[in-house]
Amino acid sequence: MADFNTLDGVNVAGKRVLLRADLNVPMKDGVVGDTTRIDRTVPGLIELADAGAKLVVITHFGRPKGARVPEMSLKPVAEALAKQLGRPVKFADDCIGEAAASVVNSLENGEIALLENLRYHAEEEKNDPAFVAELAKLGDVYVNDAFSCAHRAHASTEGLARALPAYAGRLMQAELEALGNALEAPKHPVMAIVGGAKISTKLDLLGNLVAKVDQLVIGGGMANTFLAAKGVNVGKSLCEHDLLETAREIFKKAEAANCEIVLPVDGLVAKEFAANAPHDVSDINDVASDGMILDAGPETIKDLNKRLETCETLVWNGPLGAFEITPFDTATVSVAQHAAALTKAGKLLSVAGGGDTVAALRHADSDQAFSYVSTAGGAFLEWLEGKTLPGVAALSAK
Ligand code: AMP
Repeated sequence: MADFNTLDGVNVAGKRVLLRADLNVPMKDGVVGDTTRIDRTVPGLIELADAGAKLVVITHFGRPKGARVPEMSLKPVAEALAKQLGRPVKFADDCIGEAAASVVNSLENGEIALLENLRYHAEEEKNDPAFVAELAKLGDVYVNDAFSCAHRAHASTEGLARALPAYAGRLMQAELEALGNALEAPKHPVMAIVGGAKISTKLDLLGNLVAKVDQLVIGGGMANTFLAAKGVNVGKSLCEHDLLETAREIFKKAEAANCEIVLPVDGLVAKEFAANAPHDVSDINDVASDGMILDAGPETIKDLNKRLETCETLVWNGPLGAFEITPFDTATVSVAQHAAALTKAGKLLSVAGGGDTVAALRHADSDQAFSYVSTAGGAFLEWLEGKTLPGVAALSAK
């Protein structure tokens, strides 16, 4: 497991704790939408505030690219954060300089401030040393609680960890521990489910997983490319015909690593990509030449659910079909619900994440029952690819 400093045993009383959160929440017309990121950050903030820290929260918001874009101000986020915390949050209209310093200096022990958008300064994304030094003036210790930003070596995610005593926040810690349990030191057998549209975006991920898991289930549009590589006629299905050779290399790599690649044996086949489009269940070897496989079929679902019962650990990224349109959400919903039930029964450790996966599991009403659902998109995928995340590496126990 990655070796990183946690907050255990750290005395933060009276100290200025500069905490990097990810409060890049959805916002429309100045109103915060989904508050998941805020909700997940709040318990860690309360722990530190209750331990007497002077808490200075920093985050990026949107992509203002170094300009003070008013629509990307964090002011509405400060209000939403205060509401979820049930405590006041002071707001500084810059993250460095006099505006930031005066708010930070006004903090009593246990009080919380949020500083304006880090990305109003282009130096943030450049990991500029002078900008790091300006930020570092505002804290005695640095806490990184933004796993979802850890794949970027920015001033607030990497530079600061080198400038101040640095610790993983509780949310970061939970995420790293959950991911470590799933892939670094997992209980075997381990199944990975990788679905979604295309293999071209997931080649590194597949390459890493075949070396680590016992069964690699490939689903969704991605499966079609692998089926085609085996000579199956996938009709008009989404398929990357230019990547058949790449798919064959992944088969070879899997065989060498003793990893079984599991593909659909049947599918729901329609002539158009539309909700409730007329469709047939088709054996994978009998797909009509004008048909599109939009979901895995009943035999595949049965097979996957049975296999899950023999596994100890599941890592899941990407839906098994076009889950946004009924009935092509059937396989994703069924397998997600089965994994959720096995997890609840204490028979499976289940970790999922990355982009559409969270939406798919929510759609299946299964996200709460999984052992861990990561809301980090890019960082989760880079972790699945086996890459070192600079924001995590910088927290390694020194
Ligand atoms: P990704 O962003 O790569 O995880 O892909 C997610 C998208 O893949 C979702 O929007 C799904 O609708 C789509 N998808 C999954 N399976 C299929 C399929 N068999 N045919 C077309 N699109 C699919």
